[in-house]
Amino acid sequence: MRKRLFRSTLLVCCTLLLILSTAFTMSLYAAEKRQLTQALSEETGLLAAALSHTDSREALFAVLPQERRATLIDASGIVLYDTSAAAANMDNHSDRTEFILAKKDGSATVTRASATLSEEMVYHTELLEDGSVLRLAAAQKTLIGGVLISLPYMLLAILGCVLLAALLSAGSTKRLAAPILAIDPEHPLDTDCYDELTPLLRNLHRQQEVANAQMEKLRAQKTEQDELLSNMREGLCILDKSDRVVTLNEAARQLLMIEDADYSGKQLLALIRSSDLQQLASQSREKGSAQGAYVSAGRHYHVTVSRIGQNEGTLMLFLDDSADMEAEEMRRQFTANVSHELRTPLTAINGYAELMDAGLVKSEDCAEFVRRIHRESTRMLSLVEDILRLSQLDEGSIRLNSGSIDMKAFLTDIKSSLAQKAESRNIAINIDTEQDMKFRTDPTLFQEIVYNLADNAVKYGREGGSTEISARRDGSRLCLVVQDDGIGIPPEHQKKIFERFYRVDKSRSKATGGTGLGLSIVKHACIMLGGEISLQSAEGMGTTVMVLLPELPLHVC
Ligand code: ADP
Repeated sequence: MRKRLFRSTLLVCCTLLLILSTAFTMSLYAAEKRQLTQALSEETGLLAAALSHTDSREALFAVLPQERRATLIDASGIVLYDTSAAAANMDNHSDRTEFILAKKDGSATVTRASATLSEEMVYHTELLEDGSVLRLAAAQKTLIGGVLISLPYMLLAILGCVLLAALLSAGSTKRLAAPILAIDPEHPLDTDCYDELTPLLRNLHRQQEVANAQMEKLRAQKTEQDELLSNMREGLCILDKSDRVVTLNEAARQLLMIEDADYSGKQLLALIRSSDLQQLASQSREKGSAQGAYVSAGRHYHVTVSRIGQNEGTLMLFLDDSADMEAEEMRRQFTANVSHELRTPLTAINGYAELMDAGLVKSEDCAEFVRRIHRESTRMLSLVEDILRLSQLDEGSIRLNSGSIDMKAFLTDIKSSLAQKAESRNIAINIDTEQDMKFRTDPTLFQEIVYNLADNAVKYGREGGSTEISARRDGSRLCLVVQDDGIGIPPEHQKKIFERFYRVDKSRSKATGGTGLGLSIVKHACIMLGGEISLQSAEGMGTTVMVLLPELPLHVC
């Protein structure tokens, strides 16, 4: 812009300069010529008058200024006298225009080019009385001559024009550009600029609005996508065709244990160096997709690797199937445990029966063998009952029955059913609950909870000690506490005792008729009733189990 302005300003200045100087030179030339012609005419008139009164032409012409040339020509054109040359050497002047015109009109002024381009000759002739012609000549600058004289000044003026144009263009550029530079691209219409730019600013504003709307839309889409990806429990990883990371959600980052926060654009296999994934990636390249397993931090993932489009990238999906694997493992362990637990009483029963069958048991010992068979089969029966009950609870196939129970009567019943066991160990069972306290729950499940906990308190309680069963309302919930002063549970076992068949002391549990399933049943029953269970225990000091249960509505499904 500045260059353009400079060029146009310079052009205007120079053109003006040229026009003005040409006009000035021409008017100067015309004025000079007019002046010279008039001076020559006057001087010729004076000389002609003087010539008629004197005989000494030389003396007369000697007074003339040096730049004048006087010539006296007779009526036939022969030069009689000339101030600049020897008259005898000069040509006949009868053919000269000024001579002819003077002869014809009495006087004439003629201009003729000279030997140089910068000068021309002005001649004035006057016809004298004797028929001769007096000619006075003077040199005058031609137009070209005038231009040549003014040339240095013109060059100086052009230089001035350049400077002026530079100054003007710099100033103008600054002034012109200032409002344009002040335009706020975010809010173009808020700018006070040239009216001529208003359509452009409006256009800019419209484009800004469209761009903003699109940006907003893109941002919203990106946030939605990020939210979706980060909330996905499955790990998702998208790679480009060179196996560089394009997208990696938080779940994938964690399970792949990628600590480099700047993972985008890096080769996935350089970030994690897993041969399993490498193998899956190359399989998917060959077949289009591949599936496999990936283990990370003790968790199992099912990985699906698929090619995107025509080999434009790869998508990896990691599904955490640890829970399924754990369930599978639990089922496997459970089956093994069940077989093992059932085999023991069955082997014993089988052994006793075989001995009796072979007649190897004395008749007086028969009663003892029958008692043992009965004890083992009772044990087996309770084991099978517990297993079946646990399976029902596990499957969630049990329908809850809401019923109002009289707490005092309920706990007293349980105390009675444990009375024999408690008596055999000289343990007192104390019940602490409000008279007439009613609570709405599933009676069967509640009975299983209280019975199993109280049974454990009696089994593992201190001989000669006591078992406390308390049931109180805690807001809308029931707080049931079963406490004993027995052997207690070491801290490292406390979490595990709710697992199936887990026993701290297996032989003691068996000796007391335990199946190792009681606390599992309690835990599942609590879950079914929407309650919570917690345990406090110290080795040799006793155990306290607390159950918090919400009251069931009148009708439950
Ligand atoms: P069990 O039929 O063996 O009693 P449970 O599931 O009821 O099975 O209990 C699991 C294990 O937890 C028991 O074998 C025992 O070691 C421990 N346990 C449960 N209750 C108590 C308690 N009140 N005091 C000490 N140990 C207990």
